[in-house]
Amino acid sequence: MLNFSILKAAFKAFAVALLLAASSPFSASAQEPQTITKKGYTLHFHAQNPTFDAKQQQRLQDVFFTNYPKLVKDFNKESLKEVTITIDTAYDGVAYAHNGQIVISQAWMEKMPEDIDVVTHEVMHIVQAYPSNSGPGWLVEGIADYVRYKYGVNNKAGNWNLPELKPDHHYKNSYRISARFLDWIETNKKKGTVKALDVAMRNKTYTPEIWTSLTGSDLDTLWAAYVAANNKA
Ligand SMILES: [Zn+2]
Repeated sequence: MLNFSILKAAFKAFAVALLLAASSPFSASAQEPQTITKKGYTLHFHAQNPTFDAKQQQRLQDVFFTNYPKLVKDFNKESLKEVTITIDTAYDGVAYAHNGQIVISQAWMEKMPEDIDVVTHEVMHIVQAYPSNSGPGWLVEGIADYVRYKYGVNNKAGNWNLPELKPDHHYKNSYRISARFLDWIETNKKKGTVKALDVAMRNKTYTPEIWTSLTGSDLDTLWAAYVAANNKA
């Protein structure tokens, strides 16, 4: 009987402690967002889960401050000066960017901790800032991955590279497949093509004819030349 009431009291105390813990700002609520300003750029960084690895947060912030100012300078000086990165506990994709906000999946970062250049790809979307219907979607993603290929700080450790050309590839496959094609055009046809395409899409002056005016060949002819060059190699 005595033991039972002690147990009952202990349980009551435990229940109260649980309630207190649930309402405490240090347990269930999100970690306070950090705001960091460097050389005129402000990053709001918010890991929703307070236990998200602090070193990893630092690495992601470092990629931002290394690459975002460079990309702004090289592609679009009118880019936003203030960006928010959220490490999302619920998002089940990899990452996305929209209106100065970048969301990265915490689960992805924990699974692929070396994939920190996901930030390089996403900040390029902020630099791109294309209005809607400004050009083909595959090219938007192709440029972002081309930029990751060129500016990425950890691609090798992240086991991220441009895949060898395969027979079933097409420039419309987007992402790395399009990025590798763009890199070939830059190296073998016309340096500066990516920058010119980027400007055109931002100004809404992109038309299919732009490929010919930039490189002397239309898009499908360029792709055929790219495939032929790869088959020879
Ligand atoms: Zn993207």
